[in-house]
Amino acid sequence: MEPRDGRRAFTTTQKKHILLQQNYKCAMCFKKLDLTIVEFDHSKPWSESGLTIVKNGVALHPDCHRRKTLKENLKKVDKVRKPAKPKIESKVLTKQELNRFTVTQLKDLAKKHNIRLSSNVYTSLLWGTKYTPPTKQQYVNKLFGKVFNTELK
Ligand SMILES: [Zn+2]
Repeated sequence: MEPRDGRRAFTTTQKKHILLQQNYKCAMCFKKLDLTIVEFDHSKPWSESGLTIVKNGVALHPDCHRRKTLKENLKKVDKVRKPAKPKIESKVLTKQELNRFTVTQLKDLAKKHNIRLSSNVYTSLLWGTKYTPPTKQQYVNKLFGKVFNTELK
């Protein structure tokens, strides 16, 4: 960026010339200026390397000056506003991706999707009936095709 003009304020002589070049009318609303409360500003903002010269000077009503500054600030905010985040494409999680979750996380996901897994039942003459909770692989198999990447944080 170019350096700022070392001097920001217009001199009395410059102010007179600025008023003259605008025919004593406001640069914003083009109505006659009240010379007792006229305000001076840079057409190209001083903070953006606008020079403090008659050609870059504008005379304004105090109210019009405020509106101009407001508009410039809004423009500045627009410039620094970050671009919108790209939208994530909705994709079904692969079995490999599902396998990266813990059993507890998979259980929660299953609950969210109203997927119920029954315990595994083993019957043996020696021990009778034994129940074991669903294995991780069973959760993955059941959840596969139903969980999307977009539902995860
Ligand atoms: Zn005005």
